[in-house]
Amino acid sequence: SSASDDNDVVVIGGGPGGYVAAIKAAQLGLKTTCIEKRGSLGGTCLNVGCIPSKALLHSSHMYHEAMHAFPSHGVKFSSVEVDLPAMMAQKDKAVSNLTKGIEGLFKKNKVNYVKGYGKFVSPSEVSVDTLEGASTVVKGKHIIIATGSDVKSLPGITIDEKRIVSSTGALALSEVPKRLVVIGAGYIGLEMGSVWGRLGSEVTVVEFAPDIVPTMDGEVRKQFQRSLEKQGMKFKLKTKVVGVDTSGDVVKLTLEPAAGGEQTTLEADVVLVSAGRTPFTAGLGLEKIGVEMDKAGRILVNERFTTNVPGVYAIGDVIPGPMLAHKAEEDGVACVEFIAGKHGHVDYDTVPGVVYTSPEVASVGKTEEQVKALGVDYRVGKFPFMANSRAKAIDNAEGLVKILAEKETDKILGVHIMAPNAGELIHEAVIALQYGASSEDIARTCHAHPTMSEAVKEAAMATYDKPIHI
Ligand code: FAD
Repeated sequence: SSASDDNDVVVIGGGPGGYVAAIKAAQLGLKTTCIEKRGSLGGTCLNVGCIPSKALLHSSHMYHEAMHAFPSHGVKFSSVEVDLPAMMAQKDKAVSNLTKGIEGLFKKNKVNYVKGYGKFVSPSEVSVDTLEGASTVVKGKHIIIATGSDVKSLPGITIDEKRIVSSTGALALSEVPKRLVVIGAGYIGLEMGSVWGRLGSEVTVVEFAPDIVPTMDGEVRKQFQRSLEKQGMKFKLKTKVVGVDTSGDVVKLTLEPAAGGEQTTLEADVVLVSAGRTPFTAGLGLEKIGVEMDKAGRILVNERFTTNVPGVYAIGDVIPGPMLAHKAEEDGVACVEFIAGKHGHVDYDTVPGVVYTSPEVASVGKTEEQVKALGVDYRVGKFPFMANSRAKAIDNAEGLVKILAEKETDKILGVHIMAPNAGELIHEAVIALQYGASSEDIARTCHAHPTMSEAVKEAAMATYDKPIHI
């Protein structure tokens, strides 16, 4: 890859924000270069995030189903075993095929790809220490920072990626730990806890806050926590980790109630630190060109994704907003559309969130707590999968659909779904919110039978009228 001087757009970072921005820019006829230090495209999401975690969630789910669900469906076999190296190999193959796919898309769209660490020398010049050991300068009229985020470490806890792991280490353990302690009950901790729990680990999740997944609707969260507990996951909420001792054969954690009080000890073979992620701007030279950041280290941008430095933009996990791959992609497209003189728009209020556990929990829009806090008069429509024929047919009827609508106008404010395939089901709600639909709009839309989606229709009916099947 040769760097060139006449780029319209230079993107630093090849994650979902950066690579999508680069492809879109090229599609809009802009000469584009993307700089990535990792050696492979796709960023956190594809290399050590969304994709490998979903691969392991699916594989471990298959094992769990074989053990616990197949017999009741009349499918029997004499033994089921986990071949962990094979499971990891399937995950690695998925990742490498997908990263190669993005390289292919770069070629197809004529995006110039520079492998190396980029840093600003001026608002229109990025010097790159290439992975091959050379140094080069890439110039561009518009430079987009898409450097993403990194694991947030906790004071006094050193991640060695063997016994004290981040999500990256938790995606690549060489054996199933007997006891796994997860610090932080966000979606990453619960997903990785689910993977190893299904494969046989005793999983304890320690969380400082009183609740798991703080962004979740309270009522749904309660059912979700109960479901995880039924699967064997243990929770120590309102608890802080005040010490980690790795000197012996087992890791010893010292715990203390969040409000202070008597200390207890918890033993673990592996500890996963999943207490959030932090914007990554190390070595980028932002001070040099004077890019403004907030206290949390996030780059500040306006609604056109422009920083305070003209010609310099930022998107994805490195700016405020939900730290999610699909949000980063939307940012990337909108940012480039502005650069190309078109109009771009990202509505952060309609970005769906999904926890890919079993069952999945998906949501879009406001939680009941948020609606209450706004002081809006609202109605709630709920429908349990216990009353959905497809869910009963497949003997997987845990969960519900919950819809919040404004009382006066019936406009949908938020939708929350707990179901095996909630992450797919949520999208009709996302479209509804995007189009400002009422719950009656969903209820009067014909849904195929028998599908789990019918529960969305019936919850919508329940918002302003009566559902049929309960
Ligand atoms: P990143 O994906 O972090 O990409 C930034 C890239 O920039 C990196 O590849 C980095 O190497 C590169 N870079 C940084 N600095 C430089 C530099 N100076 N020069 C050159 N290159 C540089 N999100 C979801 O939506 N769904 C999920 O299911 C999901 N699961 C996740 C599971 C885990 C375990 C983790 C950790 C995250 C998960 N996420 C998920 C979050 C998701 O990965 C991020 O929101 C997303 O990757 C952000 O995209 P980005 O492009 O902003 O940054």
